Amino acid sequence: MRHLVVVLGDQLDAEASAFDGFDPDLDRVWMAEVAEESTHVWSSKPRIALFLAGMRHFARRLRERGWPVSYVELAEDGEPGTLANGLDRALRELRPERVLMTAPGDWRVWKALTARVGAAGVPLEVRPDRHFHLQVRDFATYARSLDGRPLRLEFFYREMRRRTGVLMTPDGQPEGGEWNYDKANRRPFGREGPGMLPEPPRFPPDATTREVLALVARRFADHPGELDEFSWPVTRADALHALDDFITHRLPAFGPYQDAMWPGQPWLYHSQLSAALNLKLLDPREVVAAAEQAWRAGRVPLASAEGFIRQILGWREYVRGVYWTQMPGYLERNALAADADLPGWYWTGETDFACLRDTLRQTLRHGYAHHIQRLMVTGLFALLLGVRPREVHAWYLAVYVDAVEWVELPNTLGMSQFADGGLMGSKPYIATGRYIERMGGPCAGCRYDPGRFEGGTACPFTTLYWDFLLRHASLLARQPRLAAQLRRLETLDDAQRAGIAQRATAIRDGRVGRPAAASD
Ligand code: FAD
Ligand code: SF4
Repeated sequence: MRHLVVVLGDQLDAEASAFDGFDPDLDRVWMAEVAEESTHVWSSKPRIALFLAGMRHFARRLRERGWPVSYVELAEDGEPGTLANGLDRALRELRPERVLMTAPGDWRVWKALTARVGAAGVPLEVRPDRHFHLQVRDFATYARSLDGRPLRLEFFYREMRRRTGVLMTPDGQPEGGEWNYDKANRRPFGREGPGMLPEPPRFPPDATTREVLALVARRFADHPGELDEFSWPVTRADALHALDDFITHRLPAFGPYQDAMWPGQPWLYHSQLSAALNLKLLDPREVVAAAEQAWRAGRVPLASAEGFIRQILGWREYVRGVYWTQMPGYLERNALAADADLPGWYWTGETDFACLRDTLRQTLRHGYAHHIQRLMVTGLFALLLGVRPREVHAWYLAVYVDAVEWVELPNTLGMSQFADGGLMGSKPYIATGRYIERMGGPCAGCRYDPGRFEGGTACPFTTLYWDFLLRHASLLARQPRLAAQLRRLETLDDAQRAGIAQRATAIRDGRVGRPAAASD
């Protein structure tokens, strides 16, 4: 055999660089389902099922092209396999002249596979991942060109708009005259709620996916999450349908409501395309082009098209650049010296904090929560509580169907937990329960009061917000954008400070927040 082409579970792109020059008479594709990828963090059932179903459908697509594929299915029981061991076995059996692969997205996988192929003495060619608009080395060059100035999303995003010409006028100006329309894009739904929401398309499992669901239910019975409502796109055709449906029905209102929440409404106007993008079933260029074309055709307001495009052309490329230029040290960052445990109820949803309960239950049911739920509900609570960033990271990597480390880690450690000390953001995202209430959280039906920071009905976010400011006052004083929030500390008298500390301890101890717990 000439080339063994290694394809990972998040590389389901038939046009990937590893396939350039593929000759079915000389070459072979290798794919493997291994337990380690589901157990190195306690992966949720929906996440495991999505990857396995995506891989099995992709292998079939390649075989339909007439390409030979060695596909290792997950054993029902037996040894918990690793990718490196599986590849080792394949190298011994197939004896290829060379191994080819597209650059893996995760540091851990890249290290393990390159080391193992090296040890086997087989030449390895790692090709650039063309999926992204920007190569890692170009991101690194851009970061160096800043010459010590902070690496902020907003300026990176403008650079990406200039480089790609997306939403730019022929003379190089941003369409509409503004780079971003955030001011128009931060609306809550108001008292009446969102009204009739467009129903997103669902993709009922076919026979292959049903087999995977049954396997995951048996093999990973003790893992978190549910499979009853699994209906994610797992093929390119389904992913294209999901894209088309989003552009037509939800993109028009995406912009104004991208930060809004509403009880019992997991999807709102979000695209739910992250998993399809991260598994490479969709190309970000086609997603961005579809949104831009919809605006140019007058079907979508500019604020919505721009708000959506910024997430993909801006944030998605930016976090990948941060990940690859900061790893492996990034994983260890803990700028706030956080040392608390993640509450056990993050894995079950069993808490009487209504916003957390809703977000966690939705997460376990669907493997999905939208950005503001991740950042300003589960992420904010962990930040204010002071949970060890690596534990928060392991949770986010485990529970979401779109979770792959290159995108999850910077979002969790950097954006959400401020564990990188300000590399990604100029200040931590902190707020009281009032923010959650304003953005449509379920405060009206919660036994806690977002306006109170002391006493038995104090909202945990509000208590912990003040506690956070008190604990980190000297460190935060270095962040000019927090000056106004820190000045509010001066209004607290000694009794109030003691009340905050007492209530924060009760929350940390788990005496507040359990469904049956009496109010203290
Ligand atoms: P939409 O709201 O419709 O956004 C459109 C697309 O933009 C998304 O599909 C996604 O590809 C991209 N996008 C949006 N925000 C970001 C962002 N901050 N970083 C990178 N891409 C972005 N996203 C992941 O894809 N995988 C993760 O594991 C992940 N973990 C996160 C952890 C935390 C703590 C936070 C705060 C955010 C995380 N995100 C992650 C980013 C974001 O929350 C999800 O991409 C988004 O909620 C997915 O839902 P959607 O497809 O409906 O997105
Ligand atoms: Fe969440 Fe506090 Fe509102 Fe309850 S009162 S839903 S805990 S923000």
